[in-house]
Amino acid sequence: MPTIDGQRVVADLKRLAEFGCYKTGVHRPTYSPVDVESRHWLADRFCEAGLETVIDGIGNVIGRNPRAGRRLLVGSHSETQPYGGWLDGSLGVIYGLELARVFAMDAACGIEVAAWADEEGHYGNYLGSRSFTDALPDDEIDQTRGRDDGTPLREALERAGFAGRPRERVDPSRYVGYLEAHIEQGDTLDMIGLRIGVVETIVGIWNYRVALIGEQNHAGTTRMVRRKDAGVAMVRLAARIHDRFPEIAGPRSVWTIGRILLEPNAPSVIPGRAEMQVQFRDADPERLALFAKMLLGLAGEADRAGPCHVAIEPIARSEPRPMDQGFQAQIERAAERHAPGMHMRLPSAAGHDAAVLSYRMPAGMMFIPSLGGISHHWSEDTREDDIVLGAQIFADAALGILRAAR
Ligand SMILES: [Zn+2]
Repeated sequence: MPTIDGQRVVADLKRLAEFGCYKTGVHRPTYSPVDVESRHWLADRFCEAGLETVIDGIGNVIGRNPRAGRRLLVGSHSETQPYGGWLDGSLGVIYGLELARVFAMDAACGIEVAAWADEEGHYGNYLGSRSFTDALPDDEIDQTRGRDDGTPLREALERAGFAGRPRERVDPSRYVGYLEAHIEQGDTLDMIGLRIGVVETIVGIWNYRVALIGEQNHAGTTRMVRRKDAGVAMVRLAARIHDRFPEIAGPRSVWTIGRILLEPNAPSVIPGRAEMQVQFRDADPERLALFAKMLLGLAGEADRAGPCHVAIEPIARSEPRPMDQGFQAQIERAAERHAPGMHMRLPSAAGHDAAVLSYRMPAGMMFIPSLGGISHHWSEDTREDDIVLGAQIFADAALGILRAAR
């Protein structure tokens, strides 16, 4: 069995966290100067581990294994959310690096490592893994802008020094599959006191934009009976959604109205237009369809009841992605060896690059606990012994997958 160097894993994670360090977390948006520096640092580490490494035209750091035989691709993303945590993404990249080192002398175990670009969506969603899997057309790159300041993606790539470089593309025949480790981000493992999660499915995420169109008017002179207040219509519809969705929810269904707008959003003006985004997530495609049906039904009811008009449109939709059964079994076997009875199968309620990769090759994911279920925040953390145990189990699972493929 391969033995990982736990202290080396923790030291590398801490070193990577210095790029953009903020309090106990990290602020490292995609293509920012610290993100670019960290990608060069990672490329150097991949090279030291014996991988032929490039940073490609979208910013992916890809460490190729020059030896013959089929390979297992491992990795995650390396940028962070704004003022985010030190482990989200970085954990999977450093585990990948450690696997490349541990298996460097073993010609039968070809590990290749990827640090994907912009999984966190500072510019787009999953830019790096989509580019790698031929799911990111050039014209989308032309049109994409930064979500915070509107910087064109082409300009950001130019400034980062990645423009003009070829984009690395997957050759699925080269790989047994893709394996990603990640912190759970939720609190399931931490709450039950378990140490490893075997991901069964990455949930689907559906987003709708709901617009309510009323009539903008004076907040003093317009009698109540005459009003078409888009704000009131939105609040009522939002309450209906939150009241009715539980009727069809499964144990892990979640829904969020995370963005609302009022126009003109002024204290003495009746809102003429309101908008909200309604998002729901589930691992079951049928339940997602039920949520959509109910949402459209409630919007239709509100529209007919008046006095405001309701318009609804889908704006983004990803389908649930089951993880490979054989990979799940290998992760479970490795977990049982090192932490008997301390693991469970669970869905991932967050999106991950593994979902993108799963369209081109078998994919699997392993979780370690997040303390208190906190993530996308600088205080995100995991116990050091869980980080070390996770790396060992991940290495054993990788070996099991490569052996089973022979
Ligand atoms: Zn992540």
